[in-house]
Amino acid sequence: MKKFLLPAALALTNLASFSQGRTGDPKLSEAWEPVPAVVQPGKTAQDAPADAIILFNGKDFNSWTGKNGKKIEWTIADDAMTVKGGSGEISTRQGFGDCQLHIEWRTPAVVKGEGQGRGNSGIFLMGRYELQVLDSYNNKTYSNGQAASIYKQLIPLVNASRGPGEWQTYDIIFIAPRFSPDGRVQSQARITVLHNGVLVQNNVALWGGTEYIGIPEYKAHSMKEPLMLQDHGDAVSFRNIWIREL
Ligand code: MG
Repeated sequence: MKKFLLPAALALTNLASFSQGRTGDPKLSEAWEPVPAVVQPGKTAQDAPADAIILFNGKDFNSWTGKNGKKIEWTIADDAMTVKGGSGEISTRQGFGDCQLHIEWRTPAVVKGEGQGRGNSGIFLMGRYELQVLDSYNNKTYSNGQAASIYKQLIPLVNASRGPGEWQTYDIIFIAPRFSPDGRVQSQARITVLHNGVLVQNNVALWGGTEYIGIPEYKAHSMKEPLMLQDHGDAVSFRNIWIREL
């Protein structure tokens, strides 16, 4: 019995010192509404939770379309899709704005080229804002163009790259920009990215749409736009792509 009493007495003493100086009803600071919806999580953090939209399950391109509605020539094997260089980008049929996106990618095991020419692809949120995909394992390039950069804008906090031929993950939280009716920016797009579980972009504001040359700028667009995956000529693969609208 004593074994129980001692910790209980200590706990009461701690509680008393915690609430010291405050009197009143603790219930007044309890919020019971709204009740968050129940979401069945995946078996692991990489598996889609029950409320996610599966964009690619390894079997087909049903959720995707080629550039200008062209037939997709990328290949599917072993539950992964692979860029067919020169065949063009692919985009989701559905548009998305604020979202949580999980995507896995792999650069070719056989290393060819260097800098931007090694395992280059990209995840274009809303078809405009590129989160860079690149083999950045022992591969020097400009910092705002390496893997996990917001291309030509935001340098990742660290380089969390795995080696060529290894599967890597991005977990992205993206807040779309807001525009006023006259097209002016009300609020910039914001992004948080975990690369292989490591924080690399921490709620940072984007400067505008991705530009290869010159300063990025915003051009007003709708609240939901297709997600696009880049064909940069390299045989980069993707798998297990799911998204949650926020
Ligand atoms: Mg790219």
